[in-house]
Amino acid sequence: MFDTHLHTEFSTDSKMKIEEAIKASQKSNLGIIVTEHMDLGLKGEEKNFCFDVDEYFSEYNKYKINKVLLGIEIGLEKEHLEEARKIINNNPFDYALGSIHLVDGNDLYYKDFYKDKSKKEAFNRYLEVMFETLKKFDFVDSLGHIDYISRYAYYDDKELYYEDYYERIDEILKLISNREIAMEINTRRLDDDKAFKNLLKIYKRFNELGGKIVTIGSDSHDLKSIGKNFDKAKYIADSCNLKVVYHKNRKIYYDK
Ligand SMILES: [Zn+2]
Ligand SMILES: [Zn+2]
Repeated sequence: MFDTHLHTEFSTDSKMKIEEAIKASQKSNLGIIVTEHMDLGLKGEEKNFCFDVDEYFSEYNKYKINKVLLGIEIGLEKEHLEEARKIINNNPFDYALGSIHLVDGNDLYYKDFYKDKSKKEAFNRYLEVMFETLKKFDFVDSLGHIDYISRYAYYDDKELYYEDYYERIDEILKLISNREIAMEINTRRLDDDKAFKNLLKIYKRFNELGGKIVTIGSDSHDLKSIGKNFDKAKYIADSCNLKVVYHKNRKIYYDK
């Protein structure tokens, strides 16, 4: 199997060395796809979250083998659509994971986005922006962590319940399935029982709406998270009739 989402030193928030990530993944008998952060909306900010693509390939190409692939996690930000498209299309990435980290210029990690918003308002806006930007970013291979907001939101109950947001979630799931791209099962929150049950519902619905393929990613920024909760992710995929895939040279491969 592949862990299709992890961050090494080219990501602003990771200190993990690629050599160590490779060793750890080999121990767990996993392939990996490195997916460094590229959030063009944060370029030049204190926390930059962008990397030098030429340097990335010149330093990491020597590690590339069948089980070590080089990807990118591109921020879905409509102001930077064309720049993002160029970066993805003009470079030899194996995989482009599209993710929302910013909404209306606010990093979802910080309080600002949530202040003066009810949970419903914040979550609806998050999903609306996800749908609108994913529609435009027609060159990504998979949608990253649909439940990202549940990591950081400032509400007592942070869960993105399918029942509460089903119309907006459905339109996103339909878009992914119509485009025949993958949806990521991000394993970060799967040891939380409430999150697991809710995400299971969302992936079940994805399959009902025609979705067929998923990628599994730990979103590791350190060695101990590589391959974490993969048994749970595999359970979700199998019970929702979804095939696990990974990408190499931007093509889909079925994972075992
Ligand atoms: Zn992310
Ligand atoms: Zn990530």
